[in-house]
Amino acid sequence: MSNERQQTIRHEIISLLTNGPMTVREISQSVGIMEKDVYHHLTFIEKTLRRRKKRIDLEPYYCLDCGFKFNKRKTFKKPGKCPACRDGRIASAVFRIDS
Ligand SMILES: [Zn+2]
Repeated sequence: MSNERQQTIRHEIISLLTNGPMTVREISQSVGIMEKDVYHHLTFIEKTLRRRKKRIDLEPYYCLDCGFKFNKRKTFKKPGKCPACRDGRIASAVFRIDS
């Protein structure tokens, strides 16, 4: 993928998330990229935003069974399983950028 295309994708994601909250799946479908690439772009976008004193805000991932919230994540990636009840059903985080 060309550098220019990468830039375009990041601009698209920034404008989508500034307009309203979205899950990674929704971003991947809107922009037309794989979900795993969305995480990659979000990491870059976070760095860009930091320079503008902004950041990606998120409603954290949570466990559908016991309600455990993954508040302090170092990455944007979806956690594998719940540390509290060990069930695998994790609800998607919702990302947004405050304008
Ligand atoms: Zn749980």
